[in-house]
Amino acid sequence: MDCIFCKIIDKEIPARIVYEDDKYLAFLDINPVNKGHTLVIPKDHVATYSELDNEQAADMAKKAHQLAPQIVQALGAKGFNLCLNNGSVAGQIIDHVHFHIIPRFGGDNLQLWPGKEEEIDLLDETFSKLKEIK
Ligand code: AMP
Ligand code: ZN
Repeated sequence: MDCIFCKIIDKEIPARIVYEDDKYLAFLDINPVNKGHTLVIPKDHVATYSELDNEQAADMAKKAHQLAPQIVQALGAKGFNLCLNNGSVAGQIIDHVHFHIIPRFGGDNLQLWPGKEEEIDLLDETFSKLKEIK
């Protein structure tokens, strides 16, 4: 498997692994957007979050929920962003599903998710397409 994250799981390439169990690995992002930026990955290779079944997706979210507060506490952060890029159009570069845990510190000035102004008609049009989802 030519997957860089699988190679980290198999210890074929080094990483700063901060957590490991039988199903998950967490390691420091090599190009952190903030101090302590950590990636959480399942050990089974699955490319995207969409390809996990509902139970696997919930299990992975639980792992991030377990680890994030400990990362925050260990680094003296005040909070965190939990992000997941699903598919290349969403910025996913590594095709092995991963959560980003990004610790946040007072005054770190990270700019995420800039909002855009939207016409009310466009908001309503979008709403009409989405309000039937189950
Ligand atoms: P994404 O854009 O969601 O696919 O994010 C991939 C992340 O993996 C980026 O933040 C990279 O900095 C990170 N990354 C890529 N290669 C490595 C590596 N060998 N060790 C740690 N992090 C990596
Ligand atoms: Zn992989």
